[in-house]
Amino acid sequence: MKKIIFTSIVMILLLLILTGCGNKKEENNSFNIVTSFYPMYIIAINLCDGIDVNVENMTDTAVGCLHDYTLQTKDLRKVENADMFIINGLGVENFIDKITENRENLYISDTSKADLYLIKDENETNGHVWNNTENYIKQIEIVKEDLIKNNSENTDKYEQNAKNYITKIKELENNRFISQETKYVVSCNEALEYILDEANLEVIPVYTEHEESTLSGNMLSDIINEVKDKNINAIFIDKNDNRTNAELIAKETGAQIYVLDSGLSGDLDKNAYIETMNKNYDILKEAIK
Ligand SMILES: [Zn+2]
Repeated sequence: MKKIIFTSIVMILLLLILTGCGNKKEENNSFNIVTSFYPMYIIAINLCDGIDVNVENMTDTAVGCLHDYTLQTKDLRKVENADMFIINGLGVENFIDKITENRENLYISDTSKADLYLIKDENETNGHVWNNTENYIKQIEIVKEDLIKNNSENTDKYEQNAKNYITKIKELENNRFISQETKYVVSCNEALEYILDEANLEVIPVYTEHEESTLSGNMLSDIINEVKDKNINAIFIDKNDNRTNAELIAKETGAQIYVLDSGLSGDLDKNAYIETMNKNYDILKEAIK
């Protein structure tokens, strides 16, 4: 009996050591990087490849764009142990104040501090800058510099990873579609505008509040007239968009609907951005003749 009790006590002690202390030690020693959403996560896993640091995405990949996102308690919990928080900036993370209030000393790596090419209209700056490949490279460089600033022991590895990744992004040029003449197209999603702009296309924006809601009758007839006047034959929507508006316009004008990917969700894979862009270029080649 004594032996059984003794064995039990040893087992319990062992369990406590393994579950409690073990985990804590690992958390304290590692450099913890949290990203705000999917496009930033893909940058981080490329730059941290093969380096002993933790990279976590705050929001689920399925969340998509953060413009309409409400911060959740579980998100704040993820940021609690972060040493560095990587964001797109330009208002995409509309909840950033809540994060900085909660974690005053957290280092925010704001990729929009780079000298970015910005698409603006009279009301606002389009924040979906990662869809322009030159912007994306500048965002990678900012993250690299901030990683080095905060985790200098891995400087050489960050430099090498950034160099490798930027080389791959530059290779996208080989497959990129660029329209040889000025062509008008309809975009039903603001996040696609940088892709269409980089392809030398003139965009007629059909943006409702980010997605879902349908257009008013007046707006719709104006757009239909413009599509007819300018001989537009391509309407672009994002893979996660509701098709209603695009279908209404297509039905009245005979223009075709094409689905692009604004890179807001997808595989948790290092090459995800590259594969997404290559697919987009293939669709643009098919759409613009
Ligand atoms: Zn957005």
